[in-house]
Amino acid sequence: MTEENKIAQVIELLVNLLGRERVVSDHASMVIYSREIFMPGSIGLSQGKIQNLASAVCYPETVDEVSKIISRARANRIPVIVFGAGSGVLVGTAPSHNGIIIDLKRMKKIRAINRTNHTVEVESGVMCEDLERALNQEGFTLGHFPGSFYHSTVGAWLSTSSAGQLSAKYGRIKDMVISLEGTLADGSIFRTRRTPRSATGPDIDQILLGSDATLAIITSAVLNIFPLPEKKIYRGFGFADVKSGLDAMRELMQKELTPAVLTLFDPAGTKFNQEKLSGPSSGCLLVVGYEAANSELSELRARLGFERLKQMGGTDLGEEPGLKWLEHRYSLPFNQSKAVSQSDTLVDTIEVSVIWKDAFALYEKVVNEISKFGMAMAHFSHACREGVYIYFSFAVSDSDPEKLKEKQQKVWESTMESCLTIGASVSNYPGISLRRAQWLKQELGVGHELLQKLKKEIDPDNILNPGKLELSQEGAPARPSKMEKKE
Ligand SMILES: Cc1cc2nc3c(=O)[nH]c(=O)nc-3n(C[C@H](O)[C@H](O)[C@H](O)COP(=O)(O)OP(=O)(O)OC[C@H]3O[C@@H](n4cnc5c(N)ncnc54)[C@H](O)[C@@H]3O)c2cc1C
Repeated sequence: MTEENKIAQVIELLVNLLGRERVVSDHASMVIYSREIFMPGSIGLSQGKIQNLASAVCYPETVDEVSKIISRARANRIPVIVFGAGSGVLVGTAPSHNGIIIDLKRMKKIRAINRTNHTVEVESGVMCEDLERALNQEGFTLGHFPGSFYHSTVGAWLSTSSAGQLSAKYGRIKDMVISLEGTLADGSIFRTRRTPRSATGPDIDQILLGSDATLAIITSAVLNIFPLPEKKIYRGFGFADVKSGLDAMRELMQKELTPAVLTLFDPAGTKFNQEKLSGPSSGCLLVVGYEAANSELSELRARLGFERLKQMGGTDLGEEPGLKWLEHRYSLPFNQSKAVSQSDTLVDTIEVSVIWKDAFALYEKVVNEISKFGMAMAHFSHACREGVYIYFSFAVSDSDPEKLKEKQQKVWESTMESCLTIGASVSNYPGISLRRAQWLKQELGVGHELLQKLKKEIDPDNILNPGKLELSQEGAPARPSKMEKKE
């Protein structure tokens, strides 16, 4: 049987399983699902080039259906890629070997909100915005607000180890997980136990988080929820430079004055966002926001926090920059792209994390390196007691698309190398997928060897999202697409 016939047979199996209306394989859909949303993938797309096209997309509605799809894919050694909302920026959903794309957005039930345990059980295809609205109606919040709030799904946050803008208070998605449900590469369904913190050997949920659909497909999760804050108090502070701003952030995080939001813009970022955020015309803007279920607690913490920031050299700019940040927080990343939207210019971001001691050195090194190729700005956020994350935005220009891609690659290489040399992490969010995979081995060392062994054991045919996380290519069947590959 030819490869094409095999794929046609699998499509037929999918149709038998889900019905024709829940399986698509037309060319336009395959291009939409198989593309990378950001450059250089989008440059390739505009030139009519796409690396690998999926063979079919299907829309299961239950974990049993997902399990059956995986079993059939395994029997035919067809790669499977899970698709949430497609806002991942690291080429997680683009097929490395064609195959079936499973779009989980029809698994969109919020199964239960438990008021006693403060938990929600939610299916993987639920969008961030929908979940938050449903929780708010019951007086709760998830406390997870990624920049992609309007276009990301629960399953993908888990799969990419997502972090939201208020992670200083509510934690990252990995801090919120109580249990997971999903399917393994043989189609078996697993559900981990819903216990509070337990000491039962390595934490299986945590091994699956951040695995980018290479180890399992997550179909639902039980997550922590929080009472809706009664009062939000937001403020802007001006600092003379990055160093003094970072010292002030660290002080709040380490002296039990943890806010919900703590974001420091470097001088270039402060200038770029000045109009939008009513920030200072020079130096660095620090946005700080306190919120708690209890108004008195918010007020007390805010009063102590703001006093401390003034003692640390901050200038109180009033509530306007804080409130404006709150208003524009989901549109800020898109402004960067709009500001430099010429076809010869490429805008990209790199998010990394670093301990406090090395934060300024890493910032300075990366910005200097990027300046050799283009423009750079940065902000610092997701602070915790031991460190902080740095979000570098950069723009490179060249009229030759190939040279443009080369410049972008050079920025990535030098930034990743700087992280690895200094001892920082090459990813704060959103995971590794394909784009950061080449640096993962260096960061994880023996951890990557263990991952590789685990992958071989539980997915010997390498059908789950092959090619991601730099896990073995062995066994990955490079299936031809049903559609014609464009060069
Ligand atoms: C403007 C913008 C701002 C962003 N801001 C943030 C931010 O603040 N924080 C942050 O963490 N990320 C951010 N991101 C990145 C991205 O939105 C997140 O990674 C998000 O979690 C992706 O969600 P998605 O549903 O679109 O996933 P997709 O892009 O569809 O998938 C991402 C990865 O998850 C896998 N996956 C999806 N669903 C499942 C599942 N059920 N089981 C197993 N694997 C699965 C996919 O195979 C893929 O590898 C941002 C992106 C953009 C474009």
